[in-house]
Amino acid sequence: MDEQIQQCEQEQYLQEKAAQTDTADNKKVKISGTTFVMLLTLGVLVLWLCILLIFRTNSAVCERICRTLVNAYVSVAGRFYSVVGFNVFEVLATLCVIGVIGGIVASIVLFCKKYGAYSRRVLIVIAIAAVWVANLYIFVAGFAYNRERAPIPVYESKTASTEVAVNTYIAAIEDFNSTVEQLGTYPDGRAICPYTDKQLREVIRDAYERLVTDDYYFDYTAKAKPVISSGIMASFGIMGISFVPTAEAGYNKDMPMVEKASTIAHEFAHIHGVMREDEANALAAYVLLNSGDPYLKYSFYLDNMGFLFTFICYNVDPNYYTVNYPTHSAYRIEKEYCRKWWDEHDFMTVVGNFFNDLYLKLQGQEDGTGSYVELPEIDGEETVDEEGNVVINYNIMYNTIQRIVLDYYN
Ligand SMILES: [Zn+2]
Repeated sequence: MDEQIQQCEQEQYLQEKAAQTDTADNKKVKISGTTFVMLLTLGVLVLWLCILLIFRTNSAVCERICRTLVNAYVSVAGRFYSVVGFNVFEVLATLCVIGVIGGIVASIVLFCKKYGAYSRRVLIVIAIAAVWVANLYIFVAGFAYNRERAPIPVYESKTASTEVAVNTYIAAIEDFNSTVEQLGTYPDGRAICPYTDKQLREVIRDAYERLVTDDYYFDYTAKAKPVISSGIMASFGIMGISFVPTAEAGYNKDMPMVEKASTIAHEFAHIHGVMREDEANALAAYVLLNSGDPYLKYSFYLDNMGFLFTFICYNVDPNYYTVNYPTHSAYRIEKEYCRKWWDEHDFMTVVGNFFNDLYLKLQGQEDGTGSYVELPEIDGEETVDEEGNVVINYNIMYNTIQRIVLDYYN
């Protein structure tokens, strides 16, 4: 027995010696069987990642994979992880961070103690885990970044006459004002939210189940889960975070209620297979506006009022309409309330935006965080009227959210 131990120690010593000599003199590395198997596993995973990335460049392949394999995966994973009450992604992300930091520290310690082979193995394990996660993520979420556009019901044309645009604005403002009256207001002037967090999640989930039924979308409607570390999220300026591998729609539990509604609706879009940010915003807008629920509609208007003003900013006098059709004061008060809340919490937004931008660019979204907003396209044509005055006629190509509103009111 002693002889065996001695032999093992000797082998280990010789192995370490070989590794040390290699780093010092740049000579040939002697790789053990275990290390070889680990490197082979890593190589296979990297190769598979390359194949997935090549598949991802073809949108027809992405569409097919999303509608079949990913849809099936989300159906199973969604039901599995929904049983757990807490946000599994949050726990996994925390364990990952601890694992990677712990692994790197262990690797450095082993290296310093002349256990070069073990030090390398720890790093290879970290690399294997990272590439495995990347493979899973590309499969469940990456393909959806290059699939067809989501079939959200919109106004048939991208353009509308000035009359239609102005009438849509008036109808929307009147609807917003009556929605606030219906909800009632808190003493500070914001509309009353009639729901608890749990009820709000269920109301939005129910709206998705009724309104998002096209085969394009994943069948499973996720459950929204509050993120325990919402304070950290808020400091980075993050409102919500979806993780398709666990089919969980996470949201910041501390932020204003009206923003929880629009955020949960946005995150649900991701778990339904709509990964591009502008489309997730558009699907959320469609569901909130068409839900028939006053508070969800209120949340829609709060988020998208800026797009409604575009209806009266061109070819007419905007002042006339803002004076004659004023927006309920709840809009201004609620916006201010949200702005103040974020001012008190998001002191590291620059860092949050940097990583979000990087993530989106890695998913092939050239505009990064700029991809959240689809702007309408506006150009002007100069003409001279009978009195010799220059008049500009604007042509507007409305964006998806404006076309959702045009469709809703016309
Ligand atoms: Zn998003």
